[in-house]
Amino acid sequence: MQATRNLVLVLGDQLSKESSAFDGFDRQKDRVWMAENAYESTYVWSHKARLVLFFSAMRHFKDDLLKNKYRVAYHALQADGRRDSGHDFTTLLAISLREYKPEKIIVLQPGDWRVQDTLQRCAQEFNTPLEIRNDRDFYCDTDAFAEWAQDRNRWVLEDFYREMRRQHGILMHNSEPEGGQWNLDADNREAFGKNGPGTIPERPAFPPDTLTQAVIDMVETRFSDHPGSLTSFNLPVTQDQAAQALEHFITYCLADFGRWQDAIWQGQHLLYHSQLAASLNLHLLTPRQCVHAAEAAYESGVAPLNSVEGFVRQILGWREFVRGVYWQTMPGYQDKNALQARLPVPDFFWHGETDMACVADAMQGLIQHAYAHHIVRLMVLGLFALVAGVNPRQFHDWHMAMYTDAIDWVSLPNALGMSQFGDGGLLATKPYCASGNYINKMSNHCSGCRYNYRKAHGEDACPFTTLYWDFLDRNSQRLSKNHRMNFQMKNLEKKHQDAATMQAIRHQATVLKQALQNKERF
Ligand code: SF4
Repeated sequence: MQATRNLVLVLGDQLSKESSAFDGFDRQKDRVWMAENAYESTYVWSHKARLVLFFSAMRHFKDDLLKNKYRVAYHALQADGRRDSGHDFTTLLAISLREYKPEKIIVLQPGDWRVQDTLQRCAQEFNTPLEIRNDRDFYCDTDAFAEWAQDRNRWVLEDFYREMRRQHGILMHNSEPEGGQWNLDADNREAFGKNGPGTIPERPAFPPDTLTQAVIDMVETRFSDHPGSLTSFNLPVTQDQAAQALEHFITYCLADFGRWQDAIWQGQHLLYHSQLAASLNLHLLTPRQCVHAAEAAYESGVAPLNSVEGFVRQILGWREFVRGVYWQTMPGYQDKNALQARLPVPDFFWHGETDMACVADAMQGLIQHAYAHHIVRLMVLGLFALVAGVNPRQFHDWHMAMYTDAIDWVSLPNALGMSQFGDGGLLATKPYCASGNYINKMSNHCSGCRYNYRKAHGEDACPFTTLYWDFLDRNSQRLSKNHRMNFQMKNLEKKHQDAATMQAIRHQATVLKQALQNKERF
């Protein structure tokens, strides 16, 4: 066997030949290493579509490398599991290190602190130098974020975002923001009203080719007990397909994306949202591709500024910001639980069988597509977990399991931090808590639900509303110190004046939380 100079590790979310891991790659001397492994697939209980997306995209990438004469060592999972060469990442890598005896291991900075730690240990054990390369897809690398973060008492997204806009000249007019305002969020909160969203543009579908079908068959056999459905799997699994999805979004959806960003409608899991995060997170798309395409759409009059700014802020602002926060705070961040929330993830978060119309609809979309748009994540499923008091780490684990776009660096700050307030306010200045009234305002769910969003206790009381008041009540000491909670805490004070009502709410909340513990349906 020919000697291997560098063993270049390509992890499942690093599928780009343009990545810095390939800088200086010599097809005669170096070798790419990729592995599907059962441990990573079960470390978090993964939705079948999530598994198919990763394995199919990896196999397509591997085939592309082979076509281009790269030497590739690829560990594939088999349906029956008997012909696999190993189960966990370390075992598989150890096999290859013994076989190829490389002079050096090269890897792009992983998206998961635990994986990076494992790699470092493994390299040490085999006495092989490990070079972790900077991921230049991101606008802000981890050192630059650390520099930005030091000397600041608070890490405020808006400050970071403005600096990114200035630094990279995105949506800027000389030194001023395009249109005179940095943030057009106020224009992006409309609900559909009773007529609904009308006709939503149909998205391009990428039905399974032979390779993806083989992965689907393998996953259906080997991971048959995992949640989710594969009947409508049609996600992009190559860079070309991801570019098509981006182009379609920019041309047909971006213009209305901003206005309806926070709206929810029964049976419409996508609306005008891009669903590009999974492609971005796997490196099938680059952030610059997305930002430049959106900026060009604004300049050519295809999309208005509020939509383009909202989209750019998610990628250039929030996405970069949470990655910076992740690497600044790990590994301690994952154990944060500021509100001491201890309930397990509700059983119906896996199968969707609940009488709550909003949750049932969100779960139907999630089971079918391993996706929910951001306001459904935050203000239906996330909101329910928050007000019920679900353990934030367990909520993150569930989020990792159920969404195709969840990678540790992005899921942990979003799920544990922003959604569940587990970090006590590092990412969100206040908890995203609301009663059923918010869901009624932003969706058409409540009119068809057996519960009444206005009622906090009684047989038909909305669980969101009951648990909302209970959430404020049980966390009142902490929340009353947060000036952004003043309005809600004043309303709680008024509720406290009616002791019997408050007692009834507390009792009903206890019954609901007990039902969650016991996996009972409601
Ligand atoms: Fe959801 Fe409550 Fe509205 Fe039912 S009434 S859809 S549970 S918010």
